[in-house]
Amino acid sequence: MIYNKFDIKQIAAELGSSFCADEVDSYKQQCNVCGATITQRDTFCVKCKTPVVWLNSSVWSNENGSPKLRIRELEGVLPTTRSGILLIKRAGLLAFQNKRDEYDWAIAEDKLGFDNMKSIIDYVFTSKRNKGRGGMRHAIAIVRNKMKDFKRSPKNEPEITTEMW
Ligand SMILES: [Zn+2]
Repeated sequence: MIYNKFDIKQIAAELGSSFCADEVDSYKQQCNVCGATITQRDTFCVKCKTPVVWLNSSVWSNENGSPKLRIRELEGVLPTTRSGILLIKRAGLLAFQNKRDEYDWAIAEDKLGFDNMKSIIDYVFTSKRNKGRGGMRHAIAIVRNKMKDFKRSPKNEPEITTEMW
């Protein structure tokens, strides 16, 4: 995914002696995609909605948490299924963390169906303890367990046809 990554330390290095530590929170940059002004309060570009990450910015981190986790997420894998899109939306995230998670989720939707996947998502995110990455991990763990049951259950074995051709 394309995103803007800015770093206060890099700005300081570029500005050298004209860098002003007292005004560090007000330093701005330009969106790499559309050129709009990006402040450290921005999670997305106000104009083109490209995601924004600031490294070494307390303003940005206070709003968004760890920039490294956000980068991992932005470099993650986009969902290919309807329930996968729903999952990241409910978790308030942008992508799966890795290909394995997305692949397992997609296989599960294929086998269990969208409605079952949706009820797992509803179950996980109705509980107030679950949100964000933790909720997403929980949902993926439930789905992996269900897939184990699915594989074990004899009624889900491929049907053996006795018809004579
Ligand atoms: Zn932009």
